[in-house]
Amino acid sequence: LLVAIEGIDGAGKTSVSTLLSQYCGERGIACLLSKEPTSLKWGQELRRSASTGRLTLDDELELFYKDRQEHVERSIAPALAEGSVVLLDRYYWSNAAYQGGRGADVAQVLARNETFAPKPDLWLLMDVEAAVGRERIQRRGDAPNLFEDHAALTRAREIFLALAEQTPTARTLDASGALKSVAGAALQAFRDALSQ
Ligand code: C5P
Ligand code: MG
Repeated sequence: LLVAIEGIDGAGKTSVSTLLSQYCGERGIACLLSKEPTSLKWGQELRRSASTGRLTLDDELELFYKDRQEHVERSIAPALAEGSVVLLDRYYWSNAAYQGGRGADVAQVLARNETFAPKPDLWLLMDVEAAVGRERIQRRGDAPNLFEDHAALTRAREIFLALAEQTPTARTLDASGALKSVAGAALQAFRDALSQ
């Protein structure tokens, strides 16, 4: 079972994916929790670019593809082959949303990813307004980086919502509330996917 947890910065992806992996741990369900960009070389280069200056759109996309290819080959595909649940804190919808928001063709980005990246059984979209996301980033002590300006997050959110609308395997959660209520809804969607 492959589950992608998506949403803009500050939506609570990391909290919820950690919680779902704890749920698996408590029940003896083999589970891999992983995130993108990864901490492998291309992922590190991408993260560095948030502080050293934006790459061109094409260079940025290429780095994401290389990073994801490595992630799929090294971690995601082997874990799925062993029958593990794989939980991803961001996956290729983030490319559609963020790089799409920068002007990339969303359909093309999805198509390219789907040539090498397995499709999730469940897309969990954690939805918050850009202002809420940015407020949470600031509250946790991080200044929003170059990727996280209000207009960019607003565009990313709109693309995420449109993707979820047209994807039968997507569940959109209102992630503006307290973690406890959001977590309950996420867990329910996850359990539904597990039992299918
Ligand atoms: O999820 P996380 O906060 O670790 O993502 C790292 C940074 O990369 C964030 O600033 C996020 O907005 C940005 N990002 C991006 N395009 C993506 C995925 C993440 O600009 N496709
Ligand atoms: Mg973030």
